Amino acid sequence: MPIRVLDTELVNQIAAGEVIERPASVVKELIENSLDAGARKVDIEVEKGGVALCRVRDDGAGIAREELELALARHATSKIRSLDDLEHIVSLGFRGEALPSIASVSRLALTSRTAQGEHGWSVQVRDGETSSPVPAAHAIGTTVEVRDLFFNVPARRKFVRSDPTEFQHILRHVERLSLSRFDIAFELVHNRKRVLSHPAAPERTGQEQRVAEVCGREFLQHALYIEHAAAGVQLRGWIGLPTFARSQPDLQFWCVNGRPVRDRLLANAARVGYRDVLYHGRHPAYVLYLEIDPARVDVNAHPTKQELRFRDGRSVHDFVLRTLMQTLSATRPGAQAIGPAFKSTLLDALVPDSTAGLNEPLVQVGMQLGESAASYEPHPPMATPAGTPAVGNGDFPLGFALGQLHGIYILAQSADGLILVDMHAAHERVTYERLKRLTEGQGAAPQALLVPVTLDVSVSEADCAEEHRDHFARLGFEIDRLGPTQLVVRQVPALLARTDIGALIQDALADLRERGGSLRVEDRGLELMSTLACRSAVRAHRLLTVAEMNALLREMERTDRADQCSHGRPTWMRLTMAELDRLFLRGR
Ligand code: ADP
Ligand code: MG
Repeated sequence: MPIRVLDTELVNQIAAGEVIERPASVVKELIENSLDAGARKVDIEVEKGGVALCRVRDDGAGIAREELELALARHATSKIRSLDDLEHIVSLGFRGEALPSIASVSRLALTSRTAQGEHGWSVQVRDGETSSPVPAAHAIGTTVEVRDLFFNVPARRKFVRSDPTEFQHILRHVERLSLSRFDIAFELVHNRKRVLSHPAAPERTGQEQRVAEVCGREFLQHALYIEHAAAGVQLRGWIGLPTFARSQPDLQFWCVNGRPVRDRLLANAARVGYRDVLYHGRHPAYVLYLEIDPARVDVNAHPTKQELRFRDGRSVHDFVLRTLMQTLSATRPGAQAIGPAFKSTLLDALVPDSTAGLNEPLVQVGMQLGESAASYEPHPPMATPAGTPAVGNGDFPLGFALGQLHGIYILAQSADGLILVDMHAAHERVTYERLKRLTEGQGAAPQALLVPVTLDVSVSEADCAEEHRDHFARLGFEIDRLGPTQLVVRQVPALLARTDIGALIQDALADLRERGGSLRVEDRGLELMSTLACRSAVRAHRLLTVAEMNALLREMERTDRADQCSHGRPTWMRLTMAELDRLFLRGR
């Protein structure tokens, strides 16, 4: 074939192949245009999964009659003019490709009116030809109507899935965009049914309402709100507690300068920020917003503009990582944010609708509770078991031990109610954090064993011990290989001196061999500590004295991240007197 210049229609269709993958891409591009036009409200209506119709209407600035045709021309944009503008983009669009691309693979109508216009004007595109504008009734703003998507591109149509599937993609995009702009109202209608309706939410309460609708109320109930700024970068949003970790990375949302993105650098920073409190393939949940000087980030790295390139990626990465790590390390008993989350977990399980107001009549028992939890007054002092220090001040949020339940849970009385502690999980976290302090050079000196412990192991276990010699040494272990299948332990960290060292090392090696290989090098030291902490923590059914139990409670209060074990399970819960009263329908 001789060389030829492609005609415009074909060029547009090729571009459409890149940006318009499915109906959801159309919806996304149109909403982005509305946001760029300064809309306060965006209404989206789709039919049959968006293939039959995608219509987006906004109350933005509108397009003047003279520019309607231009808006549909390729590489025509009002958003940038020069390379300089490209360096600090603040709009969502800038390529001037979306409208002509969409028009080339559908039947498109564009109707718009500016503040200066007495009425609106409308144009249509058919087979690459834009009709001349005709007057149309329209409020200030723009409506773009896209019908019969891919009617002229059979190859694309084949990849379009069922209506419900395509609609799910659309919904996902609308949700992401609505999370990115709380100041804008969104409404989505599918097959004439309203599916989503978000009023503008300038305040945090409204924003949390929107987050709850998109991410689920559970998420918000188990999330901390963060806000932190340093060196011209601001991070804010909601981060799920480690106990709300998920098996899939399906609840992670990043928004940079108002643009929803999927960026690897940011995702990784968050992953590492959670590393210490999440284990074994669990994924954190979060909705996070980063504000940064637009000149420090390049959004022109990818046609769909979902990936970014930071000019100083390292410092952004560290900022995010450190902010998350510090927030999460404060999740210890008594740290305010945390108690209610666990509490509601337990209460929810016990009382089907514990979030409902207390003033709601409990119809089943024909009785009404009078007071709200907030107005609860402490009970008169109750009898406490002998030897239990008086409770009542807030210095000991976990209170004092009453006893042990089935060798698994510690029951304690605190100033405001009952504390339940998972003995093993709590001891594991406390030990883990102590081991970590050892590697940071802040723990007690290691203890030489009077009688070194000799161990018979497999060749691969012995290899593993040698390979991890440094990790062990940093914790205070001295382990040498005596022969192909024999190890000797000469020294151990003082805090593990009383455990069965032989069994502990054997367990640790087995775990390391099983999982260690799949971990990054920097995670292996943590994995070793996690294993040691788990294996040396008190087993279920061991009877503890009251003194031992109280010692554990005090240690938990001193320990960072003590609210969950290193596998992300909660270590304790609280039932306040008010909640117990409700459980027993004890009105006053
Ligand atoms: P881009 O968004 O990259 O500029 P588009 O093809 O999506 O390219 O849009 C082309 C131009 O049409 C925009 O630059 C803008 O001037 C105008 N436009 C598109 N949609 C709207 C809208 N909803 N309101 C106002 N102007 C719009
Ligand atoms: Mg655009």
